[in-house]
Order: sequence, then C-alpha cells, then structure tokens
Amino acid sequence: MNHLTAAEVIAVHPWNQNGAIDAPGLENWVRGRLALQSQLIDSLLAVQGERSLENTLRPYDDAVATLSAAGSLASLLDSVYPDKAVRDKARELTQVVAEAATALSLNQEVYRALAATEKSLADSGTTHYVDQTLLNYRLAGVDKDDATRAHLRELSDKATELSLTFAKHVQENVNRVEVRDPAELEGLPEDYIRNHPADEKGVIILTTDYPDMQPVMTFATNPDLRLRMFLAYNTRAYPANRQLLLDLLAIRQEVASILGFASWADLATANQMMGSAAKMKNFIGELEQASRAGAEKEYEMVLAFARSRQPGLTTLKSSDRGYWYEQYRRQAFDFDSQSVRPYFPYAAVEQGILDTAARLFHVSFQRNQETAVWHPQVSAWDVYDRDRLCGRFYLDMHPREGKDKWFSAAPLIPGIAGRQLPEVALICNFPGGKAEGSHRRSDGHSDDPGLMQYSDVVTFFHEFGHLMHAILGGQQTWAGVSGIATEGDFVEVPSQMLEEFFHDAQLLASFARHYQTGEPIPPALVERMNRASAFGRADGVRTQLFYTSYALDVHNLPPQTLDPDALLEQGYKRMMPYEWVDGNRMYASFTHLIGYTSNYYTYMFDKVIALDFFGQFDRSNLLEGPTAMRYRRTILEPGGSKPGTQLIEDFLGRQQKMDAFAEWVGEEFAGSSAGEECDGVSHSA
Ligand SMILES: [Zn+2]
Repeated sequence: MNHLTAAEVIAVHPWNQNGAIDAPGLENWVRGRLALQSQLIDSLLAVQGERSLENTLRPYDDAVATLSAAGSLASLLDSVYPDKAVRDKARELTQVVAEAATALSLNQEVYRALAATEKSLADSGTTHYVDQTLLNYRLAGVDKDDATRAHLRELSDKATELSLTFAKHVQENVNRVEVRDPAELEGLPEDYIRNHPADEKGVIILTTDYPDMQPVMTFATNPDLRLRMFLAYNTRAYPANRQLLLDLLAIRQEVASILGFASWADLATANQMMGSAAKMKNFIGELEQASRAGAEKEYEMVLAFARSRQPGLTTLKSSDRGYWYEQYRRQAFDFDSQSVRPYFPYAAVEQGILDTAARLFHVSFQRNQETAVWHPQVSAWDVYDRDRLCGRFYLDMHPREGKDKWFSAAPLIPGIAGRQLPEVALICNFPGGKAEGSHRRSDGHSDDPGLMQYSDVVTFFHEFGHLMHAILGGQQTWAGVSGIATEGDFVEVPSQMLEEFFHDAQLLASFARHYQTGEPIPPALVERMNRASAFGRADGVRTQLFYTSYALDVHNLPPQTLDPDALLEQGYKRMMPYEWVDGNRMYASFTHLIGYTSNYYTYMFDKVIALDFFGQFDRSNLLEGPTAMRYRRTILEPGGSKPGTQLIEDFLGRQQKMDAFAEWVGEEFAGSSAGEECDGVSHSA
C-alpha cells in the first residue's frame, strides 16, 4: 500500500514559491493527484473481510478530497491565471478531473463497498454522509447496466466539455463600447471619467467588465450610451454560446430520461431541499403573486417621475431601469448614490469586512506573506480560531485581462479535522487595485482609490459569507461534507445572511471613511441610503424570478423545439414592466445555467431563509450579542454534515417561515434591492 496519505499531498499547490506555473508543470501536478486517487480506490476495493469506516469510507473520502482539490485548483487557474497557455491547459485538466469524478460516480464496486460498510456505531454526520453518497450514486445511474453506464459517462463528459467552453467564451469575450464625444459621459463620476482618457485617436473605450459597465447603467444621462452598453453587455459570448447551450440542454434531457426523470429540472432537484420541478414552479408562482402589485406600483412611480423630467416619455426600456431608479431615489429620498462612493474606497472596505467578520464570528485574520500566490494582486490570509489556525483564504478582487468576469467564492481545498486546513478564494471584479496601465493617472499621483458603489459593498459581504461558511464548516471528519457541501439549495443562505449587516449605520461608520477627509459616513446618510435602496425590492424580486423561471424553463421544456431567444423575451415580458430591448441575448453569458443548471431558484429560496435568520439578531447590538456565536455553531460549523432542514430547525427552533421575507418585500422604502444577476459559488466535486 501507498504510504502517502491524501491529506499530505492535497494541500500542495500546483504553483511554485513564486506563484508561477507552466502548462507541463500543471499537467504533472494534476496527473499525480489522479494517480493517488486511483490508488486510494484500489486499496478500498482490495479490502478483505468486514468493511469499516476506516478501511472503506476513509480511502473513499480521501479520493473525493483529492479529486476535489485537483478539480478546484485546476478550475481556479482556468479562471485567474495571467498566462493563456496555462489557462487553456487548466481547462483541459478540469475536464480530465471531472471525467475521473464521473467514472467514480458510476463505479458499481465502490457503491457496493460503501453500501456494505458497517456504520451502526457511526455518528449522525457520518451516517448522513453515507446516505447522501449512496443516494447520489443512484441518481448518477450506478444501478444501470454496463452499456447504459458507458453511455451516461459519454454524455456527462460531453456536457462537461460544453460547459467549460461556454464559460471560457464568457470569460474571454469582452465587448467594447466606443465613445467619440466625451459629452456622452455626462452624469458619470469624475473619477470614472478621469480613469477613462481618450486614446490617441480621440476615442474613449469602455469595456463590458463590471467596473466599466455598472456606472454607465446607473449614472450616464445619455440613453443611447446606456443602450449601447446594455447591448454590448448582454450579447457577450453571442452567437457562439447559443448552439452550445442548446446542445448542452439536449444532453441533460437525455441523461434525465435515461435515469427515469421527466426533465433535467426534476433530476437536479431530487437531492435538494426543493425536491421537484413542480415544487419549484409553485415556489416561483407564490413569489410572483406576492411581488406583482408592488412591482407595478414601483414602475408607475418611476415612470411618472421620468415623465416629469422628460415630458413625452411613454415607456422606460430595460436599459433605462438602473438610471431612472437612481434619479428617482435622488428626488424621493434625497439620496444620490454617488455621494456614498467616496466612503467606500476598496482597501478600507476590505479591512472593514474582515474586521466585521472577525468580531461577529470570533475569529482573527492574519495576512500571510509567505504563502505563494498566483498574481501580485492576490493576498493570502490565515484564519485563527483563538490560537488555532483553522483555514486560509485568498483575495483576488480586481479585473484583469483574461480573468473571470464575475463575483464568486471558490473553495479550493476541503478541510478535514486534524488533517487538512480548508482553503478558499474569492474571485471578484471590484474597482481599484493596481490594474496594469489603464488606471494610472497621467499626473503621476496615486492609483485609482477604487471607489465602490454601495451595491459592490453588499456583494463583498455576500462573498465573505460564503468564505466563512467554507472555513468554519471546514472542520469535519470527512471532506465530502466539509464547508459549503450542504444541499446545493442551502448554499446561498450564509452569503445572503451576511449581506444584511451592510445596512447597520454603526457598523458602517467603523470602516466607511471619506477617502480624502477621513470623515466617517454620517448615520443620516446611511439612513437615507437604506430607505432609498429599499425602493425597488418588488422589482428586484421579479428580476430574480425572471432569471429563476428562465433557468427552470430551459431545463423543463423539450430541447428539440426550444427557442432560447423567444423564451427569454416571453419570460421577460411576463415578469418585467420595463420595455424589452430587442437583441438582448443575456442567456449567452448566463453562466449560472452551467453551475446551478435549473436551480437558480436557490437565491430566492435562500433569501427567505436568510431573512428569517437575520430576524433572530438584536438589531441594536448586531455584532456583540450571543446570536452570532449561536449562528456560527448551528449553521456554519456543521458544514454539510446535516440536512438543510435540520440546520434551520437547530438555529430557529422551528421550521422556516415566509414572514420575514414578506415583511421585507412589503416594507415600503426600507432595505436593499436585489436587481442584478447574482454571484456564483463553485461547488467542490
Ligand atoms: Zn452567492
């Protein structure tokens, strides 16, 4: 038998002490992990006599951990590494690891071995892990005959390839908007204009990267510029991804049919809290009804206001929504969202969120300068629970050419109690950082301070919620239930719960200081921000329902006759009062269709739970009361070792209720809008 244990090798990063790696080096690293995984499975199958947790579940779990780390780190490098040759190799190897995971998920001998393992003395977490694993084996098709399993493998491998290509197109296809008349930038913040000088031909180039796109949609007074940006953003990876998506949907439907499910949406919810596509439909229907009147009223108010400014306006387009919301809020709530940006320079926000999480969860963070990172923009941090090192994370927070364009938390290495530290990375695209070239001021002064919109700060809280779940939940006996490995539709609870902390004036004043004067953000301004940002909640819920329904429908209708464009337009018109913009192809860059497949409902489903959870905190004493520690113990620390319904009952002492959510949507003019497509979180293998 091999004497190297998985725990001794999975934590070794593929990059060297300078953070560098080349394609052959990465290939060697991944192949080494795959070989170890095979040895572990061989040793498991070679056991003679009684099967125990130690001789069967342990090598199985080590194999899972090894594959998980190999897949996650290859996928990370695909998302963030500066050298395209390494990214391409990383994508190829992500496919290879996924194929190994699929082969393992259809391995009948391993399934029988796990089913035969003696676990009468096992703790409840271990029993839950084994039960879930056996269920997932059955859902993968392990009981099918050899030919059918071989076909399922082929289909799964093809689906992986299509998924990776879809994501690559989104990552690499940046669209540009050319501005020839600087007057078109009217309404945008001064620092934004300063950071986008004209080139030698007098042309200002704006990209569809988030920090370029978002301010245009919120602040630019020129409707034509907003429309051009809207179309540039919502045609990313089009047309390339249209056919890819159709091919992928056809494969998923075939897999579902082979496994005896009516649709992919039924298969993908079978091991989730939701349970079935029909229940998902009901859930969408309930929220649709609850939000309709409010959204119509909000639209009428914004439209009436826009008409008072521009007589003759008949409708507002989808591309006008962000701008007119901003204008309306300025007038109705005396709140200009540009006025808070100076209080949110990136570096101070980062420190503030770390300090908040440290106080809330009773941990401390120390910058780790020794650990090698993959790019100079990245920082590494150690997490301590009292004196005990309990995890490590990486912050890669600003855009770069070739880097993934969205906001996500990516678990890298699953934690195993006493053996292996959990590691996780945040991959974001916030303003600021020392971006190569473009953000330097011509007068040679300091770099762009990275002034964030308040919605960016909310996103940062959200991602940090995932991060804390991965670390504090990453102290399990088994890698397979470590960190965020709950049911997939519980994953967005800890992230959305932490978002709510953003609205506390006292907490914000602790870190949000004016980047030039040092003045803390005034409580009255925070109050106006909270009231203003609450306006539009019903509309925000419906935006989420539009995405949610689309993700369900494309996975629930026959793929042969599916028209993704018609479906998008119909779904939009059913849900949204703003005029549809022809040429919107947002599905081509809707990467949640890859990661969450049909289950985008997770965001709204978990928002209901997160608000119920947040309601347990003492709002006058958010950080210091005993609730945070109880939340840490009952929700974050168990990771995936309990079913989601159990976690909820452990914390609430009852089942979840809709009340807090209903109040939140109905609470006129008092909270935040959920208007944009949500972040992503990578699931470990
Ligand atoms: Zn999330």
